[in-house]
This record gives sequence, structure tokens and C-alpha cells, in this order.
Amino acid sequence: MNDRQDVARHLSVFSDLGVSGVSRDPVWRQRDEVRSAQGPVPDNISSLDALRALIGPDCTRCKLHTLGRKQVVFGVGNPNAQLMFVGEAPGADEDLQGEPFVGRAGQVLTKIIEAIDLKRSDVYIANVIKCRPPSNRNPEPDEVATCQPFLLRQIDLIRPRVIVALGTFAAHALMQTDVPISRLRGRVHEFRNGSKLIPTFHPAFLLRSPERKRDVWEDMKKVRALLAESS
Ligand code: URA
Repeated sequence: MNDRQDVARHLSVFSDLGVSGVSRDPVWRQRDEVRSAQGPVPDNISSLDALRALIGPDCTRCKLHTLGRKQVVFGVGNPNAQLMFVGEAPGADEDLQGEPFVGRAGQVLTKIIEAIDLKRSDVYIANVIKCRPPSNRNPEPDEVATCQPFLLRQIDLIRPRVIVALGTFAAHALMQTDVPISRLRGRVHEFRNGSKLIPTFHPAFLLRSPERKRDVWEDMKKVRALLAESS
């Protein structure tokens, strides 16, 4: 039997066993029982690319895929960033372009980043949930619960020194609290893998309440000071 016939026979045996395809994705090397014991993000997902591939371009894990979202908005920026921003959820512009914070709130975020002498490409930007909720409503608890493990692994892979939670929603999701943002913001909180977490106001809130820009600037000065500390 030549090699091709050999491979064909192997595939035919696998097909009889119910294996319908093959993939080089490392996730495929694990048995189902190992995968489910590890939760939705297996331990061997050790790069952002692998995490993105695991989520897939057409994620159907929560109901948002049936509610008009165009694409999964994974996150963007430097995979080794020292500073990471976490927002709430993609809006219409982000859903169209596949990148977080590219609309009007995104322009404000870009200015915030530049105010501490960094560029968007220096930092990493993601959201608590990766798909746009219909009519930009708040993400619902089941959607957050489904997406949260992916954000947490994203953070664990990037290992930023400082995380800025943008707005009430991100602060509450990351800190598991419902304390108002006005009390959380500007304070340095310890975050799970040794990062410092600083909540601040959401850029979209600054568009409605520009008088709070000064508060965000104070918070960003703290971020800059933390980044300047030797690690
Ligand atoms: N608001 C967010 O919270 N995230 C985005 O990506 C855009 C707007």
C-alpha cells in the first residue's frame, strides 16, 4: 500500500469513528473531557492568536450572534502592552470595522492615550464583551458570563502592568462590585495576576460631560506614574 492509500484508509477509519475533520489548532489535541474540565478556555491557549482562533470568527456562545452583530471584535494593540484599556462592548462603528474604540468615543480614547505620550499601538484595547448588543443596550449578565473567561485569558496573556477600566460597566465586571464609578475611579486596585487596575470615566461619558475630563486626566497621571515605577 502506498502512502496516499495509507492516509486514505486512516481517514476512512476516523470517519467511521465520527471524526469529521482535522485541524492543527492545539485545542484539537485535547480530549473532550479534558476540555470541559478546563472550562471554555483550555490551559494550552497560550497566545492571543490561539485565543482569537478559539473564539472563532462566528462565535455562537451567547445570544448576541442572533441579535444583529456583524462580527466578533476581539481586541487590538500591542500583545506585550504594559497598559491595557477595557471598555464595555463594541458599538456600531466597532461592529463594522472589527476594532474596539474606533467611533467618537474611540477618538476621545486616542486623545487620552496620547495625553500620556503613548500611541494606540503601544497599548492594548479590548471590551468586556466582544459582540455588539442591539441598539447599544447594556450587556446582559448571561452575555458577560459567557464572554468573561475570554477577556480574563486575554489579560493573563498580555500581563499588562496597568489596566484602565473605562466606565461603570467595565469596572463592575472586572472588580465584581456594584460600587458607583464615582467612588471607584482614580484609585489603584490590585487585579488578579499582579496588575494594577484603575477605573476611570468612559470616553462616551466625557462626550456628554466634558467637565469630567479633568478627573480622567488626574486618573491618567496616576497611570503614568505607575508605568514609570520600575517593575
Ligand atoms: N464603547 C466601548 O465600551 N467599547 C467600544 O469598543 C466602543 C465604544
